[in-house]
Amino acid sequence: MVMKLKKLVSVLLVGACVVSLAACGSDKKEKSDDGDKKSKDTLVMATNAEFPPYEFRDGDDVVGIDAEVAQAIADKLGMELKIEDMAFDSIIPAVTSGKADFGAAGLTVTDERKENVDFTDTYAKATQVIMVKEDSKVAGPDDLTGKKIGVQLGTTGDIYAGDIEDAEVERYNKGFEAVQALQQGKIDAVVIDGEPAKEFVKQAEGIKILDEAFTEEEYALAVDKGNEDLLGKINDALNELKDNGKLDEIVDKYINADDAE
Ligand code: GLN
Repeated sequence: MVMKLKKLVSVLLVGACVVSLAACGSDKKEKSDDGDKKSKDTLVMATNAEFPPYEFRDGDDVVGIDAEVAQAIADKLGMELKIEDMAFDSIIPAVTSGKADFGAAGLTVTDERKENVDFTDTYAKATQVIMVKEDSKVAGPDDLTGKKIGVQLGTTGDIYAGDIEDAEVERYNKGFEAVQALQQGKIDAVVIDGEPAKEFVKQAEGIKILDEAFTEEEYALAVDKGNEDLLGKINDALNELKDNGKLDEIVDKYINADDAE
């Protein structure tokens, strides 16, 4: 009886060992495969999918100009693209901490940002525009003095609005939330990038975009400061996309030539 029990226990132990070894072995293998894949073959893009037509959600997918440009770059580099959607003001920290390989988010090139990241060649011209209610007396940048201005947190609009004399800046996590606050009369104006403004105005009744642009700027992708290898690779791919017309093709798909001014 005792022997039998001992035998049973040892059989069970051997069985468990075999199972766990197998499990352990395959587990290890999978992990190391994945690990290699992540560092070698996957290009991680940090973005904030609240910025149509550059990045927005279509169901679970992040789509838009930046997503397609990034995909085309990844294809050229023979890498798999992984898009991480996060708060706009987390994008540059994600790039500098190595959580993401690059940021693509309609990112305006600014001297301040250049202290933390390196920008690729630019791929789009952009503006900051002013959105107001249709019946607003605000007709241009000069009328913003002393007004309540809504912006998306951490954007160039946020910086410019902060420079306006006596203006009170209301910061929102999403650009569209600022537009909704404008609709509800909580703020007097929104300072935001021109292309998303055109998208938001289609969805927000009673709102218009002023003709006079507030500033002109340019977008680029951002990599960690000093990552010359990736910067060079992205620039080569980007310039190829510019030369072969693929960049224009992507932009045309999302920005209707008719409403470009
Ligand atoms: N172009 C603006 C900036 O870089 C806004 C970008 C965005 O909201 N995604 O600050």
